[in-house]
Parts: sequence; C-alpha cells; structure tokens
Amino acid sequence: MELIGYSCSYIPVELLSLTGLKPYRLLHGDLQLSQKGERIVRVDACPLVKSNLGFVFENQKRFACIIGSTGCDMSRRMIEAIKFTTSIPVYIFNNPRTDNFEIFSNEIDMLIKELEHFFHRKFDKNLIHQESERIENIRQNLRQIDARRRTNPSLLSTATFQKIVISYLQGNFGDIKSEIPEEMSYKPRVYLLGSPVSYESGPIIELIEKRLRICGDFNCGLSRALYIKVVEKTIEGLKQAYFKQPPCIFKRPNKGLYEYVEKDLKETKSTGIIAFVLDYCDNFDFEIAKMEKRFSLPILKLKSDFSLQNISQLKVRIDAFIEVLASYRGGIV
Ligand code: SF4
Repeated sequence: MELIGYSCSYIPVELLSLTGLKPYRLLHGDLQLSQKGERIVRVDACPLVKSNLGFVFENQKRFACIIGSTGCDMSRRMIEAIKFTTSIPVYIFNNPRTDNFEIFSNEIDMLIKELEHFFHRKFDKNLIHQESERIENIRQNLRQIDARRRTNPSLLSTATFQKIVISYLQGNFGDIKSEIPEEMSYKPRVYLLGSPVSYESGPIIELIEKRLRICGDFNCGLSRALYIKVVEKTIEGLKQAYFKQPPCIFKRPNKGLYEYVEKDLKETKSTGIIAFVLDYCDNFDFEIAKMEKRFSLPILKLKSDFSLQNISQLKVRIDAFIEVLASYRGGIV
C-alpha cells in the first residue's frame, strides 16, 4: 500500500505524508469511473463523487486509509460508501462550517492522534518541522510556476499548470520540475471558478485555452492548495495556515472567498470568468448565481458531467463568449 487518500483542502498534507505514504487527493472525473461509482450511489450524485468511488474500488489495494471531510453532503456520503463497500479504513475530519478556530484546532489534534495510533508513529516536533519545511518549499516552487501563468502576457497555460499541480495533489512531489517551456499568450484572459476540475479534465481546459488563456483560478483541482502558506513549522503553524486559507464555498460566512476572488480578478487582469459547474453540484450552482451578481465581469457557465460528448456545443459557447468579451471591452479581444 502506497497511498493515503484525502478529500479536502483543509486536511494538512504534511500530516498525511508523515505516515510515510503518498497523500492522494481524490479528484477523479471520468465517465467510465463514474459509471462504476453509480453502482453504489444514486445516479444523481455528482460525477466527481461517483468517479472517485470508481477509482477507489479499482485501486483498493493501493490505499492504506482514506481521510474524508465534512465538505458537502455528497462528499461525506462518498466516505460512508467507501466504508461500507471496501475494507479500507476511513476517518472523517469534521471541518467546521463556521468560522471557529477552536473546533478546527481540536479536529487537527484528533487527526494527529488517530494517525499516530493507526501508523504506530510519533509525530514529534522535529518530524513536523522537517515535513512542514519540505512541503512548504514544494508549494513555494509551485507558486513561482503559477506566477508565470498569471503574468501579463501569460507565460504558461493552465493545461500545463494542471499537469504539474497533479503531481502535488497525487503526492508525487519528486515529479515537480521547475524548468518549463514558455507558452506566451495574448489571448483574452479569463479566470476559472467552480466545482473542482478533475485529473481527467485536461481536454476541457485545452479546449477553453484554444481561444482563451486561463490566467488564474479559485479551484480545488488547480491552485487552491498553493494559498496555504505555513510560516511557523509547528503543529500550531499548520493549524493557522490551513484554517486561514481563503474560505471554501461551504464556510459561513464565506465573504473572504468573494474578497479574495475580487482581488485576484484584478491582479490577474482577467476580463471574464469561466464558471465550471458539475452536474448535480447544487452547492456551486447556488454560489455561482451569487457570483454573477457580485463580480462585474462577463461569466460563461459551463455545466459538465466530465464527458466530452457535447464538445461541439462547448466550442460554440466559447466562441459566443469571446464575442461577449469583445463587446464588453469595446471590441478589443
Ligand atoms: S461540492 Fe459539488 S463537486 Fe464537490 S463533492 Fe459536493 S457535489 Fe460534488
């Protein structure tokens, strides 16, 4: 067994990798995997949850355990489904929805105890320090790579950036390179928001970037993990860094998310927004409706089940969006 699975940006990767296993974020989105997952959960479960289930069933032997979190109801149900249909041990991290550091802090302490007990290891100060430093350096390298995507003109496509980030999300830290060929682009700059893009979403990103350049995002499948900056390399430092990341849509209040995105839209000089929403993901659907009112930029909402069946329709919609962007910016695209 080589993997310790996890499902949420609030679960410290440092603690998972201290077990000696690869922290593997469950972020699959593929039609075939989804069909396998459908045998266990309702057909109208979101395609991310169904695909993750499909992947876990196919790769049961690779997982020593899986740490889930109380994000949305569906992702919580995914962990229950894993518990009842496989022999993989699972643990639920109760990520508080409200702005309550004390609960979060207690939950981290409980997670540490559970991991220490399960893996017969003691996470002492030195180990925490070493691992926090190692992973923070990796994130710093990724932030520098991300900066090339965000600059104007953008020097890196999100299609390439995603391939690099996947190495981090799948715990293959050694595969992250700093040398990346330049991909300068003057295409219209857009920002990506919404349901997590999956490991298999590359073709959708490539399709968008044939006509546009995604130069920033607020998305768990892309740069979200990079917002976590661990300054103090202690358990307290990890707690602070993970708790203070720009809030996920489930947090209440989540006004920090809107403030963060508003600032990031300006910093990345984005001229439009792509809102990626998975089928049956009511949470993001609802939040995107709020974003449409809040952000004063054109928004293209793309609904997806991760299949590429509607690719020609997608192309037409992207072309129409480019015209909207042109009219919004006085015809200059
Ligand atoms: S938030 Fe949406 S995409 Fe994420 S697990 Fe829940 S339903 Fe699926």
